[in-house]
This record gives sequence, structure tokens and C-alpha cells, in this order.
Amino acid sequence: MNRREFLKRAACISGTALVGGQEGFAAEAQPDAERYGVLVDTTFCIGCRRCEWACNEWNKNPNRPLKDFEDKGVFQTIRRTHAATFTVVNRFKNPADGTPIYVKKQCMHCESPGCLSACFVDAFKKTEKGAVLYNPDVCVGCRYCMVACPFDIPAYEYDKPLTPRVTKCTFCFDRISREDKVPACVEICPTETLRFGKREELINLAHERIRNNPRRYVDHVYGEHEVGGTSWLYLSSAPFEQIGLRTDLGKKPIPDTSKGFLFMTKVFEVIAVWPLVFAAFYALSKMKERKDTPATSSDKKKNDKHGKPT
Ligand code: SF4
Ligand code: SF4
Ligand code: SF4
Repeated sequence: MNRREFLKRAACISGTALVGGQEGFAAEAQPDAERYGVLVDTTFCIGCRRCEWACNEWNKNPNRPLKDFEDKGVFQTIRRTHAATFTVVNRFKNPADGTPIYVKKQCMHCESPGCLSACFVDAFKKTEKGAVLYNPDVCVGCRYCMVACPFDIPAYEYDKPLTPRVTKCTFCFDRISREDKVPACVEICPTETLRFGKREELINLAHERIRNNPRRYVDHVYGEHEVGGTSWLYLSSAPFEQIGLRTDLGKKPIPDTSKGFLFMTKVFEVIAVWPLVFAAFYALSKMKERKDTPATSSDKKKNDKHGKPT
């Protein structure tokens, strides 16, 4: 490959990255009435953590016996999801009466996902069922998705340097799409804290519960409008900021609010970083070319039959 051809290919790849980035920020489809969701009614949750066990089990993540999940010691700290832990339950204190409130945390499967818009190789997609899925085959490991997620969900397999993946809750897509089952965490929940169904129906159910028990609930369905809406929805007896859910996110989808920053990051990367990468590749390709070029007759004269210089 000569220098001109090399630079042409580099420019083509850079251009694709920029154009791809702009397309990635295009407005997402409006919430679809047919999509699924889960309503998490935190007023029912007893903190048994069976959902954590079932999630590990179904996703073949490292697991321990179910009995170990009765350990309440984990509630001393507020935990987040990790590469091999797609969901965690945290404990908060109701400021009104000091009673515990347990809150399950996992990917919210946003209607307009920040992770999806930040990814310039389209490693994420929002399916018709509502699940936001990740494709490790196209991921380049830039981890923009981790920065863009407003709920701090995507994790990275730092312990697998050769084949690292971004990981997060899959909404048990294999169960809800192919096996016609509810997610594993929903199935095992003994208190019906978790209710799986059509998102629109769950929103109606949530408002009905608030109407019927106005003293039990804060008058808000978390996820109905936050960041453009999420597939996982929450009900609570305490203000949502008191139970670990951000209330400063607004109703606009994250792609709308972050596109300026993320697009400029990509521009910077293409202008400042990629030329260095291409220069390194170019130098390597030239070295390889030199190595692969057949020896000329004058070179041959200089080498003996074993290839050693004479
Ligand atoms: S919660 Fe985060 S990881 Fe999940 S869909 Fe939304 S932006 Fe993506
Ligand atoms: S939906 Fe599936 S992957 Fe997501 S938290 Fe529940 S069990 Fe885990
Ligand atoms: S299984 Fe249900 S009740 Fe138990 S911690 Fe999970 S959400 Fe709460």
C-alpha cells in the first residue's frame, strides 16, 4: 500500500466515524405502546435479594447458593452493578418514619438510550420488545456508553484484557422474546414487587395504585417521562432522590442533551488522536513492506545461500 492509498483509507474511516456519530444522535423513535416494561413497586420489596440470585443464575454469572443472599450485611453500603452482576438491591431509610426501603437497580432500558446514541459503531440497539441490547462483536471498547448512561449501568470486563465486553442487564431478552417467559428476576420475586407487562399498561396500573392509595405513594411514576421515558418504572413511598434515583435528569432524552459534548469529543478524537494511530499503523505497514519485499539481485549478491550477509 503506498502512502496516498493509505491516507485515502484513513480519511475514509475518519469521515465514516464523524458521519456515523452525527447519525447516532438522530432523534429516537417515540415510546411504542407495544413495548414491554417492568413496574418496580418498592413499597412491596422485602430486600430478600432473590432477584439478584436468579439474575446471576439465568445469565450464567458467578453465583453463590441462594441462602447466601439472605446476608443483610451488604446493605451497609450502596452498591452498583458490575461486570458479572447485572442487578443489585440497595437499602434506603424512609425519611418520614425511618423504615427501610429496598430498591432494585439494573439497566432501565431507556426509550432513547444514551448508551446507544454515544456508540459510534452501533453496538447497542433498542428492540421492538423494549430491551436495549449490546453486541460485543462490533464493540471497539471506547466505553463512551459508560460515560453517556445517566444511571451508571454499563460495566466493563477489565479482568479480561483479551476479550473484554461491556455488560449490563439484558431484560432477559432470550426469555421474553423466544421462550415467552417473564424475566428471571420477575419470576422469582415472592412479593410481586416486580410486574412485567406492556409499558403503557404498567403506567396505567401505577397511576391507579397511586389514586387508590394516595397516602402510600409519592404521586409520581419514575421512568414515565425521565430522560424521555424508560422501560423499567418505579413507585415509592419516599421522594425518589431519597431512594437513589436521580431527579435532576429532566424529561429530554439524553441523546438531545449530550450530543454537543459527545460530538465534539468525537471530532477531537478524529482530528487529534486518530492521525497518531494511523501514523503508527503506517509506520508498521512500511516496516512490514520492507520485510516482505523480495531481495533484489544486488541484495542477493550480498547474501550467501543461507540468507546471511556475505
Ligand atoms: S440505563 Fe444506561 S445502559 Fe441502560 S438503556 Fe439507559 S443509557 Fe443504556
Ligand atoms: S431482566 Fe434478566 S438480566 Fe435484567 S436484572 Fe432481571 S434477571 Fe437480570
Ligand atoms: S426478589 Fe422481589 S422482594 Fe426480593 S429483593 Fe428482589 S425485588 Fe425485592
